[in-house]
Amino acid sequence: MIFKKFGNKYIIRIDKGEEIVTCLKKICTDNKILLGSVSGIGAVGRAQIGLFETSSKQYHSTELVGAFEITSLNGNISTMNGEVYLHLHINLSDAAYHTYGGHFQSAVVSGTCEVIIDAIEGECERIFNEDVGLNIIRA
Ligand code: FE
Repeated sequence: MIFKKFGNKYIIRIDKGEEIVTCLKKICTDNKILLGSVSGIGAVGRAQIGLFETSSKQYHSTELVGAFEITSLNGNISTMNGEVYLHLHINLSDAAYHTYGGHFQSAVVSGTCEVIIDAIEGECERIFNEDVGLNIIRA
């Protein structure tokens, strides 16, 4: 993984064999990026995605293994209890151009992954909301 910083933006390259969410969290923590947006594309060989079922407040997740293009990775950076908190979603397309999507938990790069973080000066904390069963952005 390498990155270059231009103003408040970080241009990031994540390399083959590296896990994307781990890399992004490390960049945010190391550079004190506590708020911002994330967008990316790339290729992965293994991914874990999830779905939060609002009616049961249960997280379901599945592992995808094979050749996938990241057709869209986007999300945001905030904090919870002062720690970097990433909320990311992803779309992955397979060799038949069929696309899977969900809450992005992890993925291992198979080719390259290119991510841009747009950092915002400020902080937004999250708090667990019992009504929906999610860590939501605090008012
Ligand atoms: Fe989500």
